Amino acid sequence: MNNRQLVRPRTVAEATTALAEAEARGGRALVVGGGTIVVPQLTRREVNPTDIVDLGDLEIPRVRYDENTVRLSPAASYQSLLDTPCAERHMPLLHLMAQGITGGIQIRGQGTIIGSLVCARPFSDAPAVLVAHVAHVTLASSRGTRTVSAEQFLTGPEQPDLRPDELVTAVILPLRPEAVSHGYYKLKFAESSWPVVTCACTVLADGTAEFTLGGVRGVPWRMHLSGSVARDPRRLRDAVEERMSALAEDDFWADVRADSSYRRRVAATVASRASRHAFARLSSGMDQR
Ligand SMILES: Cc1cc2nc3c(=O)[nH]c(=O)nc-3n(C[C@H](O)[C@H](O)[C@H](O)COP(=O)(O)OP(=O)(O)OC[C@H]3O[C@@H](n4cnc5c(N)ncnc54)[C@H](O)[C@@H]3O)c2cc1C
Repeated sequence: MNNRQLVRPRTVAEATTALAEAEARGGRALVVGGGTIVVPQLTRREVNPTDIVDLGDLEIPRVRYDENTVRLSPAASYQSLLDTPCAERHMPLLHLMAQGITGGIQIRGQGTIIGSLVCARPFSDAPAVLVAHVAHVTLASSRGTRTVSAEQFLTGPEQPDLRPDELVTAVILPLRPEAVSHGYYKLKFAESSWPVVTCACTVLADGTAEFTLGGVRGVPWRMHLSGSVARDPRRLRDAVEERMSALAEDDFWADVRADSSYRRRVAATVASRASRHAFARLSSGMDQR
């Protein structure tokens, strides 16, 4: 007989109350977003919560714009980004990334951006893309709310800065008028496989470029380079190699798909393809506002 409590909150306050009550009882609450990661874990009995807080009935908009920001709620799935008007303009990297998520319409429609962020898997697309967007993460509990940058939120591989009674209530992306073009490239071994190494490239109005690599270290890795370096594959390779040589060997990520030396070998090439994508979009006028 399973005595697990199932709560389907309609508001953030109901959700945080359920998390606080579970904690006060000494229970272990599990938040379910789209459920694409946690439901299989429950089925395989890899997790054994006392309480399930299913966010599927939250009555909140998936994506909201205001003058300076885009706000993604826990209900924002990959598909909802693709369906949102002006997403390509206001969250270009997320839009590029969402087009390449594997698993078909089921995963794109069910899996959420926040679910992927909270999993904090070094090889996943969304965490590094959110860092590239300079996103902030808002967390709520019955004790109050706090906001941290996505970079701070990802404290290590599969280690989000999230307390047991907290809920991620929003990811906030600043609109960045200084960002004039964007490119995204992911290396994977088969059409349907998960990423191995990813890179988001943002070209800024002053000609410089930001690169955010995923799958190279345990957390997304951001670097800012001059335009002349970013545009030239050979100089870009040297710049990425130089930065990697400053890292300790155990800073590099390794998993079943690729060991750390492979990731290290391909990082500069992946960055160079993201850069080529961004500068090609810039010269074709695709990213001109
Ligand atoms: C077939 C398949 C293909 C995939 N392809 C890709 C791919 O190409 N690239 C890629 O990067 N990923 C891929 N994924 C992973 C996918 O991105 C994630 O499964 C999805 O984004 C997770 O979101 P979710 O809402 O389903 O998370 P859930 O399974 O609901 O939750 C995941 C974790 O986040 C926590 N959580 C969820 N929402 C909140 C919240 N608001 N506050 C606090 N904690 C929360 C949960 O407690 C759990 O720990 C794939 C997955 C599958 C199954």
